[in-house]
Amino acid sequence: MSDVRVRFAPSPTGFLHIGSVRTALFNWLYARHTGGTFILRVEDTDTARNTEQSLRTILDGLRWLGLDWDEGPDKEGSVGLYFQSQRADIYQRRVAELIAKDMAYERDGAIRFRMTRQPIEVPDVICGGVVRSLNETEMLDPDFVIVRSDGNPVFHFVNVVDDMEMKITHVIRGEDHLSNTPKHIALFRAFGVEPPKYAHIPMILNLDGSKMSKRDPDPAKARLASLASYIEDGFVSEAVRNYLCLLGFSPKDGKEVRPIEEFIAMFDLPQILRHNARFDITKLTWMNGEYLRAMPLEQFLPLAKPFVAHDDARVLALVKEKVKLLKELPEWTNYFFTDDYPFDPAAVAKSCSAPQTGERLLKLAAAYEQAASWDAAGLEAGLKELARQLGVKTGELIHPCRVAVSGKSAGPSLYHMLEVLGRDRVLARLRRAADQLRA
Ligand code: GLU
Repeated sequence: MSDVRVRFAPSPTGFLHIGSVRTALFNWLYARHTGGTFILRVEDTDTARNTEQSLRTILDGLRWLGLDWDEGPDKEGSVGLYFQSQRADIYQRRVAELIAKDMAYERDGAIRFRMTRQPIEVPDVICGGVVRSLNETEMLDPDFVIVRSDGNPVFHFVNVVDDMEMKITHVIRGEDHLSNTPKHIALFRAFGVEPPKYAHIPMILNLDGSKMSKRDPDPAKARLASLASYIEDGFVSEAVRNYLCLLGFSPKDGKEVRPIEEFIAMFDLPQILRHNARFDITKLTWMNGEYLRAMPLEQFLPLAKPFVAHDDARVLALVKEKVKLLKELPEWTNYFFTDDYPFDPAAVAKSCSAPQTGERLLKLAAAYEQAASWDAAGLEAGLKELARQLGVKTGELIHPCRVAVSGKSAGPSLYHMLEVLGRDRVLARLRRAADQLRA
């Protein structure tokens, strides 16, 4: 164990933003890389906006991604203490301490902190040393409120008190907090405590450079902002986690799809890229397909189950190589479970336009009716033999056959698909398609 202590400090006031997930991930990676401690602290002081539902979404999201915390809610020995709403007496004691030191005072019912008038340097591990001076307006009244007139301490204060009490060594958070940091450093100094090291990580933007927001007017972009969308769409957690590792961090050898253990081994704060990262859903979707393909069937089946009405292991095994997202499964497997599947007009136009198609499908049905055994290898040999007899290219049988039995031009290996469909259904479908084509 090292003495590195980092924390993820979400406010449970809404959904789990993908940027917050990346912040949690980078804290976790750093803790695991250094052998330090990863703390989950719930910043729930905004009682009007906190919800139970939001807290559950956050905890479930972190668990889904495998970002296990060492201290925090649900951890033995740390019950309650990691919710700011349960730490009021700690904050009161710390306010009294500042007042006693004359670093804070009351005005208009609120308690204010005597902010330094001097420029403050934020020695950021990623952004370099940033020096912040008060601007003219701030200079007029630099002392900021730390306890509101209703008695509630503000974010800056509780955030610093907790980082201090929890002995946080590195604050890794979004760059949107960089402007708050001079205040935080001044508070640490007022308590006579050395501030932690800061690492403000650049934002994640949409590909077009806009902010990722759940309120984006474009619904497709709005969905990208929330972790819940990825779970709903059938992304696997390992792929999402892998992709997020790359948003702000680039493995030197350029290999992007890799087990989390390798990211843990390589990860370090100074290597985090300084420019904003762009979120590329096409790349993540591709990566998800890679994870699905590489995954053993016994891991795939339980993940697939919630997405399909019929969880038939043979069928799912056939399309596992094909799907990029689990939510595509019904579309890829519909014809295994009903004879009433739609025919893609483009597939019909492309593969079934030859006038002899109906005739050929009937001949294929006749050949398959005689097949001694019903397995992929035999079905392949049978089709090839018929193509030879008819003097046509195998494609002239393969493509119409696929459209006839599935309605589509793409799918799993044709012969394996025929094997799983079974003789009766294949013969009936070939004959039905032939009828329709000749009608
Ligand atoms: N509750 C703050 C947030 O969600 C935490 C900021 C921090 O990490 O210091 O943005």
